[in-house]
Amino acid sequence: MSSADLYVEKIAFQRYLSQIDCLQCGYPSCEAFIEAIKAGSTKPSDCAFISRNKAYAFEAIEKITTLWPDVPLLTHPRPGVTGLIELNSPSPDSLVLVSGNNEYTEQVLMTVLGTTICPFFVIFIDTDGNTVDMSMIYQTLTAQRVSESIQSTHVEEKVTVRELMLPGLASSLKGDIERLTGWNVRLGPVCAAELPLFLSEIWIEPEK
Ligand code: SF4
Repeated sequence: MSSADLYVEKIAFQRYLSQIDCLQCGYPSCEAFIEAIKAGSTKPSDCAFISRNKAYAFEAIEKITTLWPDVPLLTHPRPGVTGLIELNSPSPDSLVLVSGNNEYTEQVLMTVLGTTICPFFVIFIDTDGNTVDMSMIYQTLTAQRVSESIQSTHVEEKVTVRELMLPGLASSLKGDIERLTGWNVRLGPVCAAELPLFLSEIWIEPEK
């Protein structure tokens, strides 16, 4: 069976390095260092300019890509759960993430979020079981559906900041969602596995 595109190749690793090509790691450029990390021949902490959090974020991505499920290329929607999930006891200033209610999307996102003890509110919007990319094609992820989910989950009563993070694949909905809901929309990465780096300042490693 063919596998779905999880957009791992879209992870922009280099944007998380200082890009000064200082050579202190022993590689001729930051880009060469990234390739060496991918090949397993060096570790992120060997860059003198990577914070401890960011080094862990690199490691988390490596872990995620070995742990996450083999997602088949879907010809039919696979509805998972809809609604609000509270992870790691979120507080009123915790981030609100949204995604579609495809079963595999949910497995992938929960695998990613399982690499941190950072608290989140996660809303799985009813996209008729479509993945985010397919829901953009079939228009089952819309500003209207995001608005309905905000209302039905009562998430507004739980947060002080009305801001949600939308998958990068749904970036075209940002303006409509902001106009319809009054919430600020922060665009997340295209690939869910990039989240640890994208949010590296808050991506706290679970205790071993
Ligand atoms: S030490 Fe870091 S900043 Fe310097 S070349 Fe290596 S990866 Fe780039």
